[in-house]
This record gives sequence, structure tokens and C-alpha cells, in this order.
Amino acid sequence: MATLRFENVYKDYYSDAKIKKRTGKTETYYAVNDLSLECRDGEFVGILGPSGCGKTTALRMVAGLEEITRGSIYISDRKVNGVLPRNRGIGLAFEDYALYPPLTVYDNIAFNLRAKKTPAGEIDAEVKRIASLLKVDNLLDKRPVQLSGGQKQRVNIARAIIRRPQVLLLDEPLSHLDGKMRQALRTEIKRLHHEIRCTTIIVTHDQLEAMSLADRIAVMKDGLLQQFGTAKDVYDDPENEFVAGFIGDPPMNLADVEVVSREDKLMFAFVRGDFKLPVPKSYEPVLHRGERVRLGIRPTELIAEPENGSGEPAIVDVYEDLGDECRISVAQGDGYLSVILEDDRRYRSGEKIKLRAKEEKVLLFSHENGSRIRAAK
Ligand code: ATP
Repeated sequence: MATLRFENVYKDYYSDAKIKKRTGKTETYYAVNDLSLECRDGEFVGILGPSGCGKTTALRMVAGLEEITRGSIYISDRKVNGVLPRNRGIGLAFEDYALYPPLTVYDNIAFNLRAKKTPAGEIDAEVKRIASLLKVDNLLDKRPVQLSGGQKQRVNIARAIIRRPQVLLLDEPLSHLDGKMRQALRTEIKRLHHEIRCTTIIVTHDQLEAMSLADRIAVMKDGLLQQFGTAKDVYDDPENEFVAGFIGDPPMNLADVEVVSREDKLMFAFVRGDFKLPVPKSYEPVLHRGERVRLGIRPTELIAEPENGSGEPAIVDVYEDLGDECRISVAQGDGYLSVILEDDRRYRSGEKIKLRAKEEKVLLFSHENGSRIRAAK
């Protein structure tokens, strides 16, 4: 077991002078930009972010498959920058399972131990133990071509953990699988982690995967770490507008608003459209009239009521009944405010309603750089 630490890690794929010359690249672009992060011993950490944000690059640097341009990576107290991949004590499972087609499942799982010249009896016991952990013990005689995607991925993970790695690295291990299989294997990975308690990093662009598997999630964008915290931290208490908008499905409503006064009360006036919301008391000390900010409110934190209810007037644009929940959309300029209804009342398109926000759930972000504006304590 081990801790894993990134210390001010940078990756510039074109830092090498020869590559620069060959590609004609002149500007510096950090695929990973000053990443500092510490995973605790036995912790399950998710690296989450949109395509191209640097997730895989970060993982490949831990694995030793990419050179680190600047900074250090430590596994426990050992700096591993120059250490060969096979000597880092890591297990790797990537999205494309890369199993050896001519070998049986048994031989695929046994491969790494045979390469280490482990005695045959030991290999046999280990293969059977790991195969049963991953529920592939009934597939040991089959070849990869005879397996489903989910079974291949289980074998792939079995192969990664048989070396008893200090750190297990999973790169989008579920991305090739269909919905049901994904869900099933996600549960298995969680169970496996409880059993082997190996420090694990999963890279994914699927927030549900990261939120359900990981103890803490590192959200990245453009090579930069945006926030590192529990699922609850990143969902309820986002550090900036990017995290607020990226986490949550359906996404948070985000809109430009201006602070105005109405009958001595401060209001947020939506810049596109004519909707207004009262400024919660806790924000009054940190805002001034005429200020423009970004307002964020989750669809579950807006409350719709019939026209004679309380709140601000709005008009239903679209009503959707999704079976397990009902939503309405209220047009605001060229966008929409989305509301998940708390009751079963049906609304018509064009119906006049009242809308209010759960005040303690209103989030504000800087109009200039998206950083969080916190309410006064
Ligand atoms: P995805 O989810 O699409 O796999 P990612 O978040 O894992 O994306 P990376 O693969 O780490 O992102 O890529 C980060 C940035 O580095 C991207 O801009 C990508 O184009 C660039 N990049 C990745 N690999 C290389 C490479 N071998 N040479 C040059 N640039 C690269």
C-alpha cells in the first residue's frame, strides 16, 4: 500500500528541442499544468474532466509512460521520475483491454507472474484467487475473442492487480461497455477496492463513474486542477463556475445577472430575459448595486408554483414528464432555466407560474474569471 503525490507537475509534449524543431511548435502548452495532489494510502481517487484536459497524461506520468517535464511524482516516499515503469509498483488497466489473443484467460492473467519467474504453484494459486475476486474463474480456459467487453475488462483488471501493485491505475476502464454492463462492473470495481484496499486512480470523463467510485475527485480543465474533494464537495460547494457547470446532470442553471434594487430590496435581474430573484441576505454585504455576477442554481433548487403561489412571475416554455421526474423549462433570452419539479402537478406550455430559489442554494461566481463569490458568514 502507498500514498501517491504529484508535486508541481508539468507536461509539455513539445519541450524536447528535437521535437520542437520537427513539429515547428514554438509556443509552450502544458497538457498538465502545475499539478499538485496527494492520494492517501488506500484511497480511491477519480480524475475527471472533459476530453483533452490532461487526465490521461497525468496517469501516464505516474505509470512512467510519459516523461515528466517539470516537478516530481512520489509513490510513498520514493520519487519515481526516473524509475522504469516495471519498477514503480503499479498496475495498469487501460480502456482498450490489450489482452494477448492467442493466450487463454488463465495465461493472460498469469503472464506478469511468469515474466517475473514466479514458481508455478504460486502462480496457480494467485491466478485462481484473483480470477475469483473478479468473477472470471469460470472463464479461465477461454480466449479473449470468446469474451464479452465486460468480461475482457475484468480479465484486464485481474492482470493489473495480480502483481499486487502499490498503486492501481485505471484509464476509462468502462468506456467501451454498454449501460448495464458499465453499472455492473462499476459495482465490482468498488467491491474489489474494498477487498484489496490498493491506492487507486481512475481517469474518466463520466461524472457518475467518478462520483460513485472515488473517495475524492480531482476535476481538471485545460491541464489545470480546478478542485479536489469528495463528490459532495464538488457538487454542493464548487470552487468555480467550471466545476459548478461540469458536475451535475441536468447541469446547473448559470446566467449573467445584475444586482438592482426594487423597493429597497436587492434583486438579481437576469441580463437575458426579464426574470428576477431576490438577493439572499447573506450575499448583501459582498455585493453592490449595479454589479454583474454569474448566478448558479441547480434545477432541483428552483421551486415552481402555480400563478397564485409565491415567487417571481415566469412562463413555462416546455413541460417534460420523464416518468421518474418532471421538468419545466422557462425561456430566458436565448437560454433556459431548467426546473425539476417537487410535486406531480402538470404544467402547460405558456402557463404563468411563480418561481423561487432555495436561497441557501444560490451560488455566485465572478463575471470576470468564474471564481466563487462566497456569502458572508
Ligand atoms: P481524453 O478524455 O480525450 O482522453 P484527456 O483528458 O485524457 O482526454 P490527454 O490525453 O491527457 O487528455 O491530452 C491532454 C492534451 O495533451 C491534449 O491537448 C492532447 O491533444 C495533448 N496530447 C496528448 N498526447 C499527446 C502527444 N503524444 N503528443 C502531443 N500532444 C499530446
